[in-house]
Amino acid sequence: MARVVIVSRRRGLKVMAALLAVGAVFLAWSGYRSLEEERAIQALSWAVANQVVVVDPGHGGIDSGATGPGGTPEDRVNLAISQRLAEFLSQGGAHVFLTRQDENVPEGESGDDLVERVKLARKVKADLFISVHCNAFDAREKGAQLFYDPRSPEGKKLAEAIQAEIRRRLANTDRVPLSIDAFVLRTQEIPAVIVEVGFISNPREEKLLADPHYQRQMAFAIYAGIVNYLAGKGPGAGQANRKAP
Ligand SMILES: [Zn+2]
Repeated sequence: MARVVIVSRRRGLKVMAALLAVGAVFLAWSGYRSLEEERAIQALSWAVANQVVVVDPGHGGIDSGATGPGGTPEDRVNLAISQRLAEFLSQGGAHVFLTRQDENVPEGESGDDLVERVKLARKVKADLFISVHCNAFDAREKGAQLFYDPRSPEGKKLAEAIQAEIRRRLANTDRVPLSIDAFVLRTQEIPAVIVEVGFISNPREEKLLADPHYQRQMAFAIYAGIVNYLAGKGPGAGQANRKAP
């Protein structure tokens, strides 16, 4: 009996060693793969150089947007992810303008912050407009989703490129981009999208959205989508991207 026990223990150890080896190879492979993917995006970052990008953190001021069940206000998540995204874009050589730098909303003659956000994009002759929001519905809905104007084929392409990177990199949504009638999209001639980075009404997703590490991953996925979109268009994409009036 004792011998059998020893043999099976040895066999168990062998199996465990084999599993550990497979695990180590997998970790090395996935680490290598993500490093390769980061490099692939960095290699394409020429595409964002000199592009003028307006990043629009939704809400702010007296309007904090939706609030998660744990009390996380949407406007703070939007700002954190937008600031990260702005950093990535700047590192890639883009000229980046944020519609708000802090908790205050942009003020101007119109007295309407949405009008001022779009006005900024016109003033700086933006090539792209990326608005960042959190979705809210019930505790079960989850996943980031892109929105674009139905009259903008380029907005749709940009939305698809960003959605694809979010799906692939974060692996927690199978949503597809949708067209929507929204002021900040409808009033612009350039490719413009709203990135709903997730459902703040879902307790699990609220925790993720408030986590600086996840915010960085989300920002990088959005950045990667923008890079792929612009790289697909080729150099000098900005002007050609404008939608037909
Ligand atoms: Zn919102």
